[in-house]
Amino acid sequence: MATAITDIGTLLTCDPSLGEGPGGVLRDAAVVIDGGRVAWVGSTAAVPAADDAYSARGRALLPGFVDSHAHLVFAGDRTAEFQARMSGRRYSAGGIRTTVAATREATDEALEANVARFVGEALRQGTTTIETKSGYGLTVPDEARALRIAARHTPEVTYLGAHVVAPEYADDPDGYVELVTGPMLDACAPHARWVDAFCERGAFDADQARAVLTAGAARGLVPRVHANQLGPGPGVRLAVELGAASADHCTHLSGADVDALAGGDTVATLLPGVEFSTRSPYPDARRLLDAGVTVALASDCNPGSSFTSSMPFCVALAVREMGMTPDEAVVAATRGGALALRRPDVGRIAPGSRADLVLLDAPSHVHLAYRPGVPLVAAVWRGGVVVHPAGE
Ligand SMILES: [Zn+2]
Repeated sequence: MATAITDIGTLLTCDPSLGEGPGGVLRDAAVVIDGGRVAWVGSTAAVPAADDAYSARGRALLPGFVDSHAHLVFAGDRTAEFQARMSGRRYSAGGIRTTVAATREATDEALEANVARFVGEALRQGTTTIETKSGYGLTVPDEARALRIAARHTPEVTYLGAHVVAPEYADDPDGYVELVTGPMLDACAPHARWVDAFCERGAFDADQARAVLTAGAARGLVPRVHANQLGPGPGVRLAVELGAASADHCTHLSGADVDALAGGDTVATLLPGVEFSTRSPYPDARRLLDAGVTVALASDCNPGSSFTSSMPFCVALAVREMGMTPDEAVVAATRGGALALRRPDVGRIAPGSRADLVLLDAPSHVHLAYRPGVPLVAAVWRGGVVVHPAGE
């Protein structure tokens, strides 16, 4: 059953070999999807016959967003902390512990309902692939439970026992690292694809993060790192050294950090929702792009430092605040995220890729930044099936 989507005003393929510029843009385009995959991409005038037809009526089509960094398994609310911060108090990593307490107390059903709610919320804003992490349990059973729940909603599941030192180990951080690299890893590895560590002052230093990431890698988990968020530090270079898929945040970078990223395969994942929500300086995407670094944009959706699931919002921030062009920002939110998750099947619209598509109520993807805060997503396909709006 092949469907031809025709009369696409602007098609952002995210494959430079298919069209203009870094986004591989085509005008008056058409896409044929078949069996959940993209079968053909070209101009409406040349579209091959299909079983079914759908006219985009001049609107824009782009790949579903790939949100490669989120923390969706949690309970509780940190409105008060946000209010305090907006009244002038600085953010520190310790606020995570309030969510840990609420998450431990929550039932499985409550945690799962939260994950489902945020995945649905993201989907309605065009996110068809989303990563999520543990990290609010910090005990063996609570971390394993978070990953089991996450894995029911996405294959991109990350073990983040090394989010902060568990309160029970406040006086023995090395003892906590032994737990994270020992019994907790044993319980969590079967449910996860990735291992992550928060390498930051107030969380884990380079040696501790290296121990966690190498122990995870020995169990088949691929590293990704929370790095250089709150200040300069060793996280980015550790990520590159270990061949991590991604170094996330990258807000405070030295020249050596940028050189390391440019010389390696590690994607720099920028999370501007954090800087927005903590009133902090944004990462310099322009500097990274000009150095040849692969950049991804992600939401970092979490209740403390970035409680947004909106990739369009992140695109708008990246354009306004981080020196990215609209094309670069949308590519980073789709293809960039796919590279950060090592998913060649998503993040672009090219023959063979999964038919994850977003139709906008706008003539071009540029409107994602040009019309910030406006709900422009008209329809979403995942694996060739319309998943939003429901019932279409
Ligand atoms: Zn994060």
